[in-house]
Amino acid sequence: MSLKHLSLKQWIGLDNRSEEYAYSRSDSTGYTSARKIPDRWVRTTCGYCSVGCGIEIGVKEGRAVASRADALHPVNRGKLCPKGLSEHYTIDAENRARYPLLRKNGKLARAGWDEAIETMVERFRAVQTRYGHDALGVLSTGQLVTEEFYALGKLVQVGFGTNNYDGNTTLCMASAVSGYKASFGSDGPPGAYEDIEKADVILLIGANIADNHPILCQYLDSNPRRTLIVADPRVSKTAMMADLHLPLKPRSDLALLNGIAHILIRHGLIDREYIRDHTSGFDELEKFLDGYPPERVSAITGLSEELLYKTALLYGRAKAAFIGWTMGVNHSTLGTQTVNAICNLALLTGQIGRAGASPFSITGQCNAMGTREAGCTSSLPGYRRFDDPCDRAELAALWNIDEARLPNARGLAYPDIVEGAVGGKIRALWIIATNPLVSFPNQDVLRQALSNLDFLVVQDGYHPTPTTELADLVLPAAIWGEKEGTYTNSERRVSKVNRAVAPPGEARPDFDIFLAVAEKLGCREELYPGWQTPEDAFNEWRRVSRGRLCDYSGISYGLLESEGAVQWPFPEGSSAQATSRLYEDGQFRTADGRARLICADWQPFPEQPDRAYPFVLNTGRTVEHWHTRTKTREVPILERLSPNAWLEMNPRDAKGLKLRSHDRVDVVSRRGKVRGVELRLTEIVAPGQVFMPFHYVEANANEVTQSAFDPVSREPNYKQCAVRIERSGETP
Ligand code: SF4
Repeated sequence: MSLKHLSLKQWIGLDNRSEEYAYSRSDSTGYTSARKIPDRWVRTTCGYCSVGCGIEIGVKEGRAVASRADALHPVNRGKLCPKGLSEHYTIDAENRARYPLLRKNGKLARAGWDEAIETMVERFRAVQTRYGHDALGVLSTGQLVTEEFYALGKLVQVGFGTNNYDGNTTLCMASAVSGYKASFGSDGPPGAYEDIEKADVILLIGANIADNHPILCQYLDSNPRRTLIVADPRVSKTAMMADLHLPLKPRSDLALLNGIAHILIRHGLIDREYIRDHTSGFDELEKFLDGYPPERVSAITGLSEELLYKTALLYGRAKAAFIGWTMGVNHSTLGTQTVNAICNLALLTGQIGRAGASPFSITGQCNAMGTREAGCTSSLPGYRRFDDPCDRAELAALWNIDEARLPNARGLAYPDIVEGAVGGKIRALWIIATNPLVSFPNQDVLRQALSNLDFLVVQDGYHPTPTTELADLVLPAAIWGEKEGTYTNSERRVSKVNRAVAPPGEARPDFDIFLAVAEKLGCREELYPGWQTPEDAFNEWRRVSRGRLCDYSGISYGLLESEGAVQWPFPEGSSAQATSRLYEDGQFRTADGRARLICADWQPFPEQPDRAYPFVLNTGRTVEHWHTRTKTREVPILERLSPNAWLEMNPRDAKGLKLRSHDRVDVVSRRGKVRGVELRLTEIVAPGQVFMPFHYVEANANEVTQSAFDPVSREPNYKQCAVRIERSGETP
């Protein structure tokens, strides 16, 4: 605490705050600060990452004062990572949004909820009347509960009648979605965390789970028989755990995968029976892979042919092989194709639908899966396709609406909504629980887009954030710990989320805000018949998902509370204990039931280094922080551990530039500059590459990243752009 916060009594020593520093005994933690011993514990699910750990919030006199692991939760088995252990601090943060704020005379001023919702609906309707329904764009998140995603999808697509709706999930795992759809006919990670314990070979590609999904490491630890292969250009903490690290050149993973498939086919290490019975496209793929002999793949990846053979033989001879990936794969213009190449490997070897065998996308946010399944962004709810007449008719009947009110194609994806605003096609925008003024690539384009809008609504649990500061209307939302619903994690496990404390000021759960907007629009009863609580939405979602791959029909709030988290598909009558895998019967969600083997050709990444910009910048995360740091900068222990951004550079490159460790440097690309970043010299990054975390608005890596996107998923190519490094203050 700074001196300016001390009262007069504290200054002169009459108040030594003894009650604040008193200690006592807690049943669960032993001798501890009396302030942190709760009156009660509330079971819920962690609100950060998609691992989906069970957590308990300690509540004392109406405030969240502690967090601890839920010892009975099947995912984390009594453990939490640093973010989970300190998560209660996010609730009491100073920068919580407490009241609706409406811009009047250029300034945000407090408004009542009625005025806020009325203004929002009037302004959105005015824009739609003048420019057409699709002039309204909506950008949501992976942070809401499933019930909110389901309600929001109906509100946007049917209530407002705009199809230009997407989430920040497109910035992290859209390529996994589009890759799964192309290979298997549907989204949905096929495996389970348990597979990490049951596999004898685990290949992690672009997945630094030690920093980003730490609790998954305990599944590695409990599998002493496994061989861990990590493909990553950087010697990440996860690479340090590997039996075999593949330090491949940036964005050469697709060539590596094709090279492994080439060797497997040439050496007869494929499952011809599985290929014959369950796939299509083998002949074309075999011919295509002739173009990926080890000598070419070695030249592309920088890995020796010996290392390629070693990797291929380990994978090909495994009884059960698991491939996990995250943003290293997805954050690319080749993301969808790289996912297809991962699925190819699993299909060629029959490494899918069995214990330990899965091509497994490790998702990002706590409920990215919920929006994929129940939302209305890249699919209709229940993984229904926009362009499938049967899917549309079925959903229209379930919603009791005319089918013509459902869009027959996907609307603009996130980057295209931003481009649409730049070009004047999108005139009003509703941003929910995301902070693009840190997270979107090439910030200059985004600033242009937002400045072009007629009306910007930002709904968030925090204010100010760089994005709420630009809003015409800020809607204060309840956050994790203050509302009820469900999250679904990366292994399709549905877990209950519970309210422990009341939201601050007049903040409301997003669910209540959606209902209030629908009321003002005059469609509440049509969209949400008889709904009062999130459970009403969940029960409708159970009916809508019945018979689909993501079948929730047998899951109820009562079951989740009594039995704990369960995996979908969970049709009525399922057993709560079963670990489920998709595609155990080899039947895929394509028209003929066969998975597709897809020819996915490698290409160099779009912006290659040159004399003016000689380094390849890689961006990523650190264990202490979460995304745009809106929450974790408010958690003292996390912020103190990692208060500033840094740039990692190989010592050989630093020598050439006459730079030393801890020098302040500027990172410069064709699009912008990040100033005054602390330099860290380390062999973790190879010469010619630099790495920077993307959490920090004060040193925002996205000032220099580029507007390059996967053509199918529209996910940004965050991972490679060309930069030069200069000592701060040296440039004109
Ligand atoms: S691993 Fe993820 S879900 Fe588990 S405690 Fe950490 S942030 Fe939360």
